Amino acid sequence: MRAWVVGTPGPVDSGPLRPVERPVPAPGPGQVRVRVSCCGVCRTDLHLAEGDLVPRRAQVTPGHEVVGSVDAVGPGAHRFAPGERVGVAWLGRTDGSCRFCRRGDENLCTDPVFTGWDVDGGYADACLVDERFAYRLPEGLTDEQAAPLLCAGIIGYRALRCADVPPGGRLGIYGFGGSAHLTAQLALAQGLEVHVLTRGEHNRELARSLGVDSVTGAAGDSPVPLDGAILFAPAGELVPVALRSLDRGGTLAVAGIWLSDVPRLDYAAELFQERRLRSVTANTRHDGEQFLRLAARLGVRATTVAYPMDAAPDALADLAHGRFGGAAVLLN
Ligand SMILES: [Zn+2]
Ligand SMILES: [Zn+2]
Repeated sequence: MRAWVVGTPGPVDSGPLRPVERPVPAPGPGQVRVRVSCCGVCRTDLHLAEGDLVPRRAQVTPGHEVVGSVDAVGPGAHRFAPGERVGVAWLGRTDGSCRFCRRGDENLCTDPVFTGWDVDGGYADACLVDERFAYRLPEGLTDEQAAPLLCAGIIGYRALRCADVPPGGRLGIYGFGGSAHLTAQLALAQGLEVHVLTRGEHNRELARSLGVDSVTGAAGDSPVPLDGAILFAPAGELVPVALRSLDRGGTLAVAGIWLSDVPRLDYAAELFQERRLRSVTANTRHDGEQFLRLAARLGVRATTVAYPMDAAPDALADLAHGRFGGAAVLLN
């Protein structure tokens, strides 16, 4: 089968992705094999290709927003029948036994396996998944619409909860790409006031089209004090900017897996008055299932830009250079 792998991590324009021919993998115990029809392109894939994220395995195939159909079932796997549509997401497996898993925080597992980082992901014709970590997908969504929900959507949902905005409160969103545009729809549907601060005309246009309450440039201050904010842009210099825009008791949740250095904080102006700064780390399966249900019910829709699987490097480069609004997907 065809697959893309991260060869030598480096700047996206140096071509870190390499095409390879590999045998179709056979599902092991408890696993199913997924024939990939569509795989979303997440900023994490870019961080991996560029070497911001330390590779956990050489020549790994990226991709953790995978939609496809089950085409082989391993020993003991019985949750899905061949032909069923499933989603494969970032959380590939947890040990189920560490103290974080035992208290229900499997997103903090001390021995996790991530799709497209520890094990091969969906930039390929097929991939394997532990069936316990695969998702059933809502009907009524095409494969292309469903793919971005699997990381961009789920992580945004967790970030929104972490930002802890009271009912009817004001949410700030810094950076407006694949994850943010889904999160904004969720927040609006839940009755929050949404203020978007982002660079890039594509992003601002997309935000406006969703009917958010205000759109301004990322470097600017929020037009209103915020009850909570989510930083989607991987830009540490925005942490103090966003903290200063928080009202008393507000929370800033940093959604990304990678962030450039955060400058020195000014305690009085940026943290005092019980403002909180927190990260968002992966998600639990419960988050995923809840989000997929909510997205279907509330009509959350991804704006997608489709590329053929063969053009994966172009999709990553376009993401790096901000050449589209919404979420890129690769189609087989
Ligand atoms: Zn664990
Ligand atoms: Zn992701």
